[in-house]
Amino acid sequence: MSENDSLGKNENFLEQIIKDDLGNSHSQNQLRFRFPPEPNGYLHIGHAKSIYINFGFGQQFSSPVNLRFDDTNPEKESIEYINSIKNDIRWLGYSWDKECYASDYFDQLYEWAEGLIKKGKAYVDDQNQETISDQRGIPTIPGKESPFRDRDVDTNLDLFRKMKDNYFKPGDCVLRAKIDMSSPNMHMRDPIMYRIIDHEHHRTKDNWVIYPTYDWAHGQSDYIENISHSFCTLEFEVHRELYDWFISNIYDEKKIIPKQREFARLNISYTIMSKRKLLELVESNEVDGWDDPRMPTISGMRRRGIPPAAIISFCEKVGVAKRENIIDFALLDYCTREVLNKKAYRLMVVIDPVELEILNYPDEKNELLKAENNPEDESYGHREISFSKNLYIERDDFKEEFNRKYFRLSIGKEVRLKNAYIIKGERVEKNDSGEIIKIYCTYDPKSKSGSGTEESLRKVKGTIHWIDKNNYEKISVNNYDRLFKVEAPDGNKDDDFKTYLNENSFVQVKNAYAESNIRDSKKENYYQFQRNGYYKLESNNKELTFNRTVTLRDTWKSKS
Ligand code: ATP
Ligand code: MG
Repeated sequence: MSENDSLGKNENFLEQIIKDDLGNSHSQNQLRFRFPPEPNGYLHIGHAKSIYINFGFGQQFSSPVNLRFDDTNPEKESIEYINSIKNDIRWLGYSWDKECYASDYFDQLYEWAEGLIKKGKAYVDDQNQETISDQRGIPTIPGKESPFRDRDVDTNLDLFRKMKDNYFKPGDCVLRAKIDMSSPNMHMRDPIMYRIIDHEHHRTKDNWVIYPTYDWAHGQSDYIENISHSFCTLEFEVHRELYDWFISNIYDEKKIIPKQREFARLNISYTIMSKRKLLELVESNEVDGWDDPRMPTISGMRRRGIPPAAIISFCEKVGVAKRENIIDFALLDYCTREVLNKKAYRLMVVIDPVELEILNYPDEKNELLKAENNPEDESYGHREISFSKNLYIERDDFKEEFNRKYFRLSIGKEVRLKNAYIIKGERVEKNDSGEIIKIYCTYDPKSKSGSGTEESLRKVKGTIHWIDKNNYEKISVNNYDRLFKVEAPDGNKDDDFKTYLNENSFVQVKNAYAESNIRDSKKENYYQFQRNGYYKLESNNKELTFNRTVTLRDTWKSKS
């Protein structure tokens, strides 16, 4: 079966390629993969897909996976990015075999470049990059050859050495591969291999003023590291011919020839997936850094409270495709809820409180009621929640007049207070502007949850959460929504994607009331504020602040 035949709907064609190679050309111990980020920003969820694919194959085939930093653009790269990338991969649960840097191969790449010059397959071009790019023309018409294309080997060697020895200024000249100016593949029209960049490199410092291009560095790095399969995104498909050409020109040992194959990029609705644009948001202070909880970065998702298992499960569900499409953001929310339902500690938090008094509950009485920390997992144990005559409930959980569809509290109607008693609404107190400031109810003393009495088993239509007015903690809650208000914010190339930012993507709620157990919450845990959503502790300096990860149900569709 050929590669292209194996594109069945749910079939992972990359896996098929590896398996075919294992049956023909490759032995098990020759398999080696890599994840090759450029350290020019923080990783985003698109990278998570590539990580999932490459490290996933590593696990599946028990093969090593290198982490390779493709650090060939010193102007845009930094140690901060390198560290964040390593941290994010570990957090996702993967570990790499070798930590590699394209910059470690600069000497070797230089030597190979001289080799190409000596073979008459590379030349120094004194034209600027704009002229070079104009001469390439369009695919259907042959490009124009550079006037410097036929320089002899000695001149080229001399000029290339001068480029390396800081003899020229940036823009004075470049090294180009001499391939075919009439190739229908534009990447084969004498691509640039080196350009002069006068910028200190975060690792090689000022050792170099010439830097290899992506095309000249990537495949050669794969080759040096004995990578068997070099998986990248579809936009590199047109680079594959050049990838193979370069390798065929340096190949002189019994080494594995790396195979570049391409899969579809991950695109998600209502967000963007380009480090350059994400950097723009950071630099223009539209967001609170790379790890702003609204960012599609791994670090943003971590801060928002999305667990790594949800990201992996999302990548798994998205699958490996050959065609680009846009994945609905709601799928990630779904995966997040699915994981957090099993993982999250439950707490009661009233976000928009209104007072509730139980008329027939004894004034001085205080009970500690038992509640499960996680109904999905007994090992999470129980906690005790303080209960007394005066409580707070969610303003939304009461309506003076009920209709048949309203299952919460109203006058003359019963609901259960979660983990506590059944109550019945009696009357309300309003302020001068007609706003309800207090609700009065009565309770059924025999209906206590878990007490085993007949009354405790009595079913009422609604259950609402509550907070004891005598024992609670005030907290702040950060509510996040989608960062953009349109499905494809970078879909229209003429518009600045920033004009589509959702101005309501961050709303801070001060003074939410939480059961006092919340004081024990920890940064590494996940929480469900019951009937509300999943939350992650953002800060516990002085006041507790939580980030809303996701609501319990999808409210987005009904809103828009
Ligand atoms: P960006 O355009 O966001 O900067 P990039 O492709 O330049 O992304 P790299 O650091 O070069 O980022 O990417 C490392 C690896 O991750 C590459 O193999 C790349 O193909 C892959 N990758 C990047 N973005 C995505 C995405 N949206 N979906 C899947 N894989 C991706
Ligand atoms: Mg890139």
